[in-house]
Amino acid sequence: MQDSFLHKGHRKKLVEYLRDHCSITSPLVLRAMEQVPRHLFLESIFHEYAYQDRAFPIASNQTISHPSTVAEQSQLLEAREGDKVLEIGTGSGYQTAVLVAMGLQVYSVERQKELFDFSHKTLKEIGLRPKFQSFGDGFQGLPTFAPFDSVLVTCGAQQLPSELLKQLKVGGRMVIPLGPLQEQILYRFTKIAPTEFEKESFGRYRFVPMLGSTN
Ligand code: SAH
Repeated sequence: MQDSFLHKGHRKKLVEYLRDHCSITSPLVLRAMEQVPRHLFLESIFHEYAYQDRAFPIASNQTISHPSTVAEQSQLLEAREGDKVLEIGTGSGYQTAVLVAMGLQVYSVERQKELFDFSHKTLKEIGLRPKFQSFGDGFQGLPTFAPFDSVLVTCGAQQLPSELLKQLKVGGRMVIPLGPLQEQILYRFTKIAPTEFEKESFGRYRFVPMLGSTN
C-alpha cells in the first residue's frame, strides 16, 4: 500500500477544489481530506482518477461517495476534535478515515461482510483506525456505545431511523440522506431536547440504499 508525491499533489488540488467550488471551509475537514489517501480505498484501475470529484464502484455492488459529498457530510456534523461519532455504512472505509483524521472517535457499522473485512484491513494498514467497527444492521445503531455527539449516515434511507435519533446527545446532530431510491435530500437533524429536533436540508443527492437486515 503506497502513497506518493504524485498522489499528495493531487490531494492538494482536490482540497483547493473543495474550498473554491464546494463551499468547504472547515479547516478540520480540509486538513483531513488532504491527509487521507483515497486511492488506497479503490481498486488499482481507478487509482489515477482517485482525486477527481467522482464516485466509484466498490465491492458488494456499493459505491464510494464523491469526495465533495464526503467533505460536505463531514462539515455538516460541525464536529469538534474528540467528539464521539456514529457512522452508518462504512463501505470502503474512506469516509471513516476522514472522520478519524479529523480527530473524532468513530464507531462505524456496515452490513456487507466483504466491505466490513476490506475496510477493517485497509484502515488498519494506513493507521487511521476507528474506535470500533461493527458488522451488522445500522438501523439499530450501537446502543451500548450511545449517546453520540453526532451520527453520519452514508446510505439513503427511505424512512427516518428513529433508533439513531434516540442515540444522539441533546445538542447533537444527525446528517442523513432521506427519500426514495432514485433521489434523496440531505438533511441535518439537531436534537434540541430529548424528543425535539430541528431539521435543515442541504440539496439533492443519490446514495446507495440503506437496507434492513433482511434485504
Ligand atoms: N462512506 C462509504 C460509502 C459507502 S456506500 C465510503 O466512503 O465508501 C453506503 C454503505 O452503506 C454501503 O457499504 C452499504 O452496504 C451500507 N449500508 C446500507 N444499509 C446499511 C445498514 N442498514 N446498516 C449498515 N450499513 C448499511
